[in-house]
Amino acid sequence: MDFDLTDTTVLVTGGTRGIGRAIVEAFADAGARVAFTYRSSAETADEIVAELGARDVEAIAIQGDVAKPEAAEDAVSAVTDAWGRLDVLVNNAGITRDGLMLRLDADDWDAVLDTNLKGVFNFCKAAYRPFMRQRSGAVINISSVVGVMGNAGQTNYAASKAGIIGFTKSFAKELSGRGVRANVVAPGYVATDMTDAMNDDARQAMLDAVPLGRPAEPEDIAQAVLFLASPAASYITGHVLKVDGGLAM
Ligand code: NDP
Repeated sequence: MDFDLTDTTVLVTGGTRGIGRAIVEAFADAGARVAFTYRSSAETADEIVAELGARDVEAIAIQGDVAKPEAAEDAVSAVTDAWGRLDVLVNNAGITRDGLMLRLDADDWDAVLDTNLKGVFNFCKAAYRPFMRQRSGAVINISSVVGVMGNAGQTNYAASKAGIIGFTKSFAKELSGRGVRANVVAPGYVATDMTDAMNDDARQAMLDAVPLGRPAEPEDIAQAVLFLASPAASYITGHVLKVDGGLAM
């Protein structure tokens, strides 16, 4: 399906690599103006802005840690200052710090919850006022099937991703009267740096459990995000869309 999102302004967290980068590219291909954040990949961020600029796509890269409220405020202000409005917010940035409970320490818990869940809160809070003012907006939060199914060795990650689902449904209920929609995309196993870091046995076990028999490409996730952001999804809110090759069915 081709989506026309011309004149739509989009903010994606964690847009330099993997799924986030594919989401940035997909919105750019659909004609949107795209801002994205990153934590440390400044050089890659500059390259992406230059590549998009060469294709006449308006793009902004913003450095910041999503766990910090001021980073979210800066990013949303950068978008509204440049383009006057924010139409779509995609909370994608996320990390893992895996380990069985016995070895998982409080720092592993805090780092994952602060980035994955508090980051979503920070950006939704920063976007709240522009959305209310405009009486429109679409939020897509990237969870994981691990937040639905659980996974040994990922209590912190699963808690953060399950939290995103409850958060998103509550946010959707709060803002639906203002024309704002909020949905979740829950990917299964996607080929990115994050899954490259898994050990071979864990990766193979995950792959063996995927009925469609292959990992997702980041673009598979990006297309679902694009759909939920588009007018084609104008009657969909509070939904959890699994994009997992059947892993969690
Ligand atoms: P990657 O590790 O490939 O990329 C992560 C991106 O997030 C990078 O752009 C990184 O920026 C950014 N980022 C990480 N931490 C922060 C932070 N504190 N502040 C700002 N930016 C940050 O991850 P994936 O593409 O694999 O995952 C993207 C999302 O999808 C995550 O939320 C993940 O949990 C989720 N997901 C992934 C799955 C998978 O199989 N890969 C499955 C299910 C869900 P920088 O480059 O500067 O470090």
